Order: sequence, then C-alpha cells, then structure tokens
Amino acid sequence: YTPGRSRIKEEKIFVTVRVRPLSKKELSLKDQEAWTCVDDNKIVFKMPAQDRSNSSSSYTFDKVFGAACLTERVYEEGAKDVALSALTGINATIFAYGQTSSGKTFTMRGITENAVNDIYKHIDNTPERDFTIKISAMEIYNEIVRDLLKPDSGPLRLLDDPERGTIVDKLEEETAKDSQHLRHLIGLCEEQRQVGETALNDNSSRSHQIIRLIVESTVRENSDCVKSFVASLNFVDLAGSERAGQTHASGARLKEGCHINRSLLNLTTVIRTLSQGKQGVHIPYRNSKLTRILQSSLGGNARTAIICTMSPALSHVEQSRNTLFFATCAK
Ligand code: ADP
Ligand code: MG
Repeated sequence: YTPGRSRIKEEKIFVTVRVRPLSKKELSLKDQEAWTCVDDNKIVFKMPAQDRSNSSSSYTFDKVFGAACLTERVYEEGAKDVALSALTGINATIFAYGQTSSGKTFTMRGITENAVNDIYKHIDNTPERDFTIKISAMEIYNEIVRDLLKPDSGPLRLLDDPERGTIVDKLEEETAKDSQHLRHLIGLCEEQRQVGETALNDNSSRSHQIIRLIVESTVRENSDCVKSFVASLNFVDLAGSERAGQTHASGARLKEGCHINRSLLNLTTVIRTLSQGKQGVHIPYRNSKLTRILQSSLGGNARTAIICTMSPALSHVEQSRNTLFFATCAK
C-alpha cells in the first residue's frame, strides 16, 4: 500500500440494469411491482414493509432502465459504445445476465439487431475502408460446446493456440455478404437454439449462447502500406442466474434441483476479479469453457458491457437481489 496513491480504474466494464414490465401471468396472480427506477441510475425497492432480508433498498449503476424503456434506449445507453469499439479493432463483449424469464433473450436480440444496423451504417459511411464481417455462434450446455451454425457437427473441442489463445476447433465461420445475409445467419442460430430447448426441456435456462461477429477492416494508406484491424464482438445470452449459486442475502437458499452452472459461476468470479482492477492478480479464465472462449474479449484491452435483467415482481425479490448484488460486484 502506497499512501496518497489513489486507485485508478479504467471504465472497462459498463454495468446497467433493465427491469421488464410485469408479465401477464404475474399480473393475473396479482403480483406487485416491487422496484422503481429513479434518476436514470438508481433502482429502489419500494416495499420496505415486505422486506425481511435486511438488504439495502437502493442500488446505483451506470444506468438503470425501467419497464417503460425500449430496447433501443438500452442499446444506445448501455451497449452501443462497447459494440462499436469492435469497428476500431478493440475486442468487445456484451452480456445479458439475469434469472430465467427476466428478459435476457428479449434484450439480447434487440441489442444484436441494433448493433448490426449500426455496424452496416458505419461501413456505408466509411468508404475508404474495406470491411469484412464474419459470424460464428455456439452454445455451451453442461460444459459441452455446440456449433449453432453447423448443428450436426457434434461437440467442439477447445485448443490452445500459442498465437491466438484459446480457439474453438472446427467452429464454422461464415462471411456475411451484407446486412440482410448477416440477419439471416443470426436467425438460423436462434432457430437452432430453440431446437435444443425443445429437445432438452428448457435448455435456455442452463445454456449460454454466444454470437460472435469478427470485424475485419483494411485501409490503404498509400501504395505500399495497408493497415488492418480485426476484432471480435460477442453477444452473450447467459444461462439463468439462479444457476450462479449466489447466496448473499441471509436466509437465501438455492432452489431445489437448481444445479450450479460451472461456466456461469466462474464468469462471476472472473468479472468480480477484473472489476476490482488490481494489478498482478490471477484471473481464473481457464476454469470454465465460457471464460476460456471469451478470454481475449474480457479484460485486458477489451471492452465489456453487462446488462442485468430482472423481473419487477415482488415474488422474485430474492433472485432480483442476487442479480443486483452481482451487478454491484461487476461495476
Ligand atoms: P430470459 O431469456 O431471461 O429467460 P425472456 O427474454 O425469454 O427471458 O423473457 C421472458 C418473457 O418476457 C418473454 O415473453 C419476453 O418477450 C418478455 N419480455 C422480456 N423483457 C421484456 C421487456 N422489456 N418488455 C416486454 N416484454 C419483455
Ligand atoms: Mg432466454
């Protein structure tokens, strides 16, 4: 410890919280909205009389988005800068984290769509550069990696490449001809994920989906000098956070039959360690498939945005608090 030296932390992880509206089912069960968003960056538990957990009733983040917020705004204020950094050669990852049915897939789809639009807008406005966009997509279920672009290919292995780091062996990579083709390919991955969901009974609460765009660009500075950039942009729809096994609130217990998901638990450790920003601390990327695959796009020079989604319902307050607790550790 050096007296007088303040800790300087770069804003590498941008953390936001999105609360969805009450669902029809929650409304029909007369569930109540237990949270309210104030001042764009604070979320407050508004039923203190119902609260037996002794936890804080207000949490502050870079941004919070209430039930009335459209995905466009969540994208603009919570993900756009991180997504577009891939156009300048900086690796980036955008996560949706939250309990099952809190709105992760809903949010991530909208974020991906908005990012794809912006990427092609940028390409159109930057004629001096040649861009190539490639896509790959995978799902991690029970620490098994499956190709969402080539579903029949069986489990994929991870290999360590001395130059490129961890690579997913034989992962399909397709070049997008244009924005429409890219949207089509993204649609295929989503269909593929739904196939898994039907076959494996709510596989989406247990699996992680990664859609990865590889953005390459070159610019000719003069006749014999070509500058090029390459970066990955990852859109990650995580397994339900009830599988992270956090039990911070006193009395909070893991639900029965809820298996802890190794990749998710390890991701929370990696994010927490990164956000503490201490020099020379070991970051356990290698302890799970998800963090190995994302290593070069997490920490270091990479940029990260985490959108934590939650239900507003009183009946979900315990899981929502777990999500807010994770979000607090991540920022
Ligand atoms: P998760 O992927 O976290 O399990 P989903 O994204 O599938 O959750 O969302 C659960 C349900 O809530 C879906 O029917 C979805 O359309 C709806 N939903 C989620 N977020 C919102 C939102 N912000 N506005 C309106 N409906 C939403
Ligand atoms: Mg989902």
